[in-house]
Amino acid sequence: MDVLQGIGVSSGVAVAKALVISDDQLKIGSHTVAGTAVEAEKQKLQVAIAASSEEVRELRDQTSRHLGKETGAIFDFHLGLLNDPELIRTFINLINSQNYSAEYAVYRALRDYAKIFTDHSDAYFRDRVKDIYDIERRLLSKLTGAERLRIGELTEPVILIASDLTPSQTASLDKTMVRGIAIESGGKTSHTAIIASSLGIPAVVGVDGIVHEVRTGDIIIINGHEGKVTVDPDPLTIDEARILAERQMRHASELEQLRDQPARTKDGADITLMANIEFPHEVDQALQKGALGIGLYRTEFLYLGHEKSPTEDDHYAAYTEVVRRLAGKPVVIRTLDLGADKSTPHLDLPAESNPFLGRRSIRLCLANQDMFKVQLRAILRASVHGDVRIMFPMICNMMELRQAKMVLKDTMEDLDEEGIAYNRYIRVGMMIEVPSTALMPKPYIRDSDFVSIGSNDLIQYTLAVDRGNQHVASLFTGAHPAVIRLIRRVQRAGKAEAKNVSLCGEMGGDPDYTMLLVGLGLRTLSITPNNIPEIKQLIRQITVKQAEKVANKTLKLEHAHHILNLLHDEMRRYHPDYYRDDVSKLAHYSQEA
Ligand code: PEP
Ligand code: MG
Repeated sequence: MDVLQGIGVSSGVAVAKALVISDDQLKIGSHTVAGTAVEAEKQKLQVAIAASSEEVRELRDQTSRHLGKETGAIFDFHLGLLNDPELIRTFINLINSQNYSAEYAVYRALRDYAKIFTDHSDAYFRDRVKDIYDIERRLLSKLTGAERLRIGELTEPVILIASDLTPSQTASLDKTMVRGIAIESGGKTSHTAIIASSLGIPAVVGVDGIVHEVRTGDIIIINGHEGKVTVDPDPLTIDEARILAERQMRHASELEQLRDQPARTKDGADITLMANIEFPHEVDQALQKGALGIGLYRTEFLYLGHEKSPTEDDHYAAYTEVVRRLAGKPVVIRTLDLGADKSTPHLDLPAESNPFLGRRSIRLCLANQDMFKVQLRAILRASVHGDVRIMFPMICNMMELRQAKMVLKDTMEDLDEEGIAYNRYIRVGMMIEVPSTALMPKPYIRDSDFVSIGSNDLIQYTLAVDRGNQHVASLFTGAHPAVIRLIRRVQRAGKAEAKNVSLCGEMGGDPDYTMLLVGLGLRTLSITPNNIPEIKQLIRQITVKQAEKVANKTLKLEHAHHILNLLHDEMRRYHPDYYRDDVSKLAHYSQEA
């Protein structure tokens, strides 16, 4: 039995047989052809390009219908590449000048092309390599007549193992058969990860050497929450995982009954549970899970996966779709948090040696005010249709907050001049997610209508731990006493100014932290939709008094792992059937200790 560690990008536990997708499933036939066959090869190529384009178009439309337009638009890149005149010319030149077979010309040209992307300093371009391989595979399957991977036509449940899965392969997965995905490459921002989590399939990326460790037919346990893949588990471990998966499903269906119940503590305090989303279509799932609104809409995903920047109308269409789906419930639209790990080529961002400390997020918007205004105009236009609020990310100093508000005011004046309607009383808030604002939150809160604590970045910047780096993952914890004190500070300042303070980082969706956060005084949490029922159930089993006691106890402790142990034990007292306990938290403790 081997346990491989990767990065969990979509949670859940599953046990199934492995289906290993090897890279050499499509072999190139002849490399060259006789001079008399050159014309026929070129014709074959044209037919293959047309058929592939048709397939991709269908896939795009299908994906758009099921997962939303933004996700479907990922395939526009494939279409663009398939029909890129320069690339087609390269294929043709290779056939003409070298007598290459159509398939070898495609293979050679696309491999050279992929190399440019692989060597690129920008992670976005490196991520696009798999799109190029996807196109290569599609074209080759047309040209060689080889059977394309039929992962859409599986007859038994599997866990897919691959060095990589392309976005189109992932989007065409049959959710009822594919119980999990584990791949060698990828990061949290790859399209494969985005699509896997939209589909709700447990997924782990960045699992070193997995295609060599696993053979098709091996039994695999995937734990998408922990980022763990167990290969050839012993019968006891399989039983445990099956029990865990079953409990998880039973528990999820029990929790469904809570959907219309309030997240109210036993002593009557209401906690507002909102949802975090990246795409408009996720609103429905959020509402289904009982969200009272959207507390964080990460709008930068409008830029990722597209070939060019969205227009004002693209923004507007996305925001009005969210507002329409919410039917009166509020949405906090966060302005673009681009840069660092969320990069996109059309912005042409320069390479930086410390991109998380570089020109990202609000800094990028303030440096590109035309781009910023396009988004602000769209948000303001959408504000007449429902309860829309604006939130600025990554504010580090008062100047940034003032400048951001000034650009907003300018945009309002532009709209006034053009006679375009908007809500001039729109609520404007900011994220508190860097220590400089969390340490002295008062002036920021005074100048905002509300604030939201971004615990993901707050932990990253307070503890100097890259949130996306698996080598320092065990140091990344919200249980660090310094982080807890910063949260308390912000909450207290909000209370003194009578302004709403919410928390929208991952801590809010982890039951271990619920008593602490409620005990510190937080009354609004914005979390991943799937976590809402769990957190609600726990809230309904505690009192504010108990939570305050827990918070006070943690404030006396100095070590993160002591705090985490305490929080976990307290949570288990009130929530004894919490399913994740058996595996994930215990593993986490051993790393912490
Ligand atoms: C955060 O930093 O906690 C947050 C919610 O924002 P993001 O995860 O998008 O950086
Ligand atoms: Mg953040």
